[in-house]
Amino acid sequence: MDHRPVNDFVPELEQRLNTLREQNLFRELGRVDSPQSTQIQVAGKALLNFSSNDYLGLADHPALKTAAVRAVEKFGVGSGASRLVCGSLAPFHELEETLACFKKTQAALTFSTGYAAAIGTLCALLGRDDIVILDKLIHACIIDAAKLSGAKIRVFAHNDLADLEDKLSWTKSQSGRQKSRTLVVTETIFSMDGDAAPLREIVGLKNKFGAWLMVDEAHATGVAGKDGRGLADEAGVAAQIEIQMGTLGKALGASGGYICGSRALADFLVNRARSFIFSTAPVPASAAAATAAIQLLQSPEGEQRRNALHQRLEQFNSDFLFANQKPAGAIIPIILGQEDRAMDASRKLREQGIFVPAIRYPSVARGKARLRATLSAAHSPGDVSVLTGALKELTRR
Ligand SMILES: *Cc1c(COP(=O)(O)O)cnc(C)c1O
Repeated sequence: MDHRPVNDFVPELEQRLNTLREQNLFRELGRVDSPQSTQIQVAGKALLNFSSNDYLGLADHPALKTAAVRAVEKFGVGSGASRLVCGSLAPFHELEETLACFKKTQAALTFSTGYAAAIGTLCALLGRDDIVILDKLIHACIIDAAKLSGAKIRVFAHNDLADLEDKLSWTKSQSGRQKSRTLVVTETIFSMDGDAAPLREIVGLKNKFGAWLMVDEAHATGVAGKDGRGLADEAGVAAQIEIQMGTLGKALGASGGYICGSRALADFLVNRARSFIFSTAPVPASAAAATAAIQLLQSPEGEQRRNALHQRLEQFNSDFLFANQKPAGAIIPIILGQEDRAMDASRKLREQGIFVPAIRYPSVARGKARLRATLSAAHSPGDVSVLTGALKELTRR
């Protein structure tokens, strides 16, 4: 075969990659040869894992695995088509009924990922005449969704109610002839900073201005509130939130994204969310595993696991305070600033057999690089001591 380049495509990409390397922003995949758990095998080495969003240790749980295997035996592996064509297999319906019941909403709709849920939902609901107001630290999938929707985007300072009110007031001056809608979007527990949104106040503001609200509970579902229902339920404002979104891939240990809300919302998304309509349904095994996870959350074992997680977090907080506010969920950011500092810290921990990833731009702002440690119910108190000991050593220097 002739491998002579027809143009400069590959050299151009190599140059772009070199720029990333120079800025300490180059990323690589590390192959993992074990299930997700507190110990993972990376490149032949066992590492104590503080990087996963599997906060309750469900990703390798026997109840989820059994449910997935049974679904494979009964429904096979692939779904064959989009849900609207012929792929709407029973496990998706069971999952959505279980989810709606769990979140106490009229309905739920699941997507192949949380990312696809965000894209499908924002683009279905908003158009060029509308306005979307985002928290400064909102997840990339919401930013991408907002851009793709064509709506006017406004950003308020992170968790800053006065700034949100300013932006909402501004929308009043905009709603002229067209029937313009305003949607506010926030996370409830933030993915990279681990803090919580002032949800009651945000709900108060969106009601005052007649806006809609969407909350992303990706890091709260399973972790926060009674039975792990999330922060909206805990704050007692869930019924006033138009759109509750989340993922089945973090504390729920499976895979997929969800939207919970009114029957009208779910029906509308089935008709209008392009990432739902024009995409093959996920595998039934993941839906069955997610259903088992939601049932487990509401059992005594679920309670035990959440308690264990909160005990580990308390232990971490009392052993190691690094200009850190008490995290709202299981995410502990240790902000180091320059990208190379975070990379260096992560490398040093890894040499000691501890895996805490360095998070850099574009996951966080430039110059706000950090270690992001996540705890799990499956960590032992000894695991947490190993982490806090190593972090103390590292930050002393
Ligand atoms: C992970 C994440 C998502 C995306 O969910 P996936 O199921 O992983 O696609 C959305 N929002 C937030 C805040 C997340 O952290």
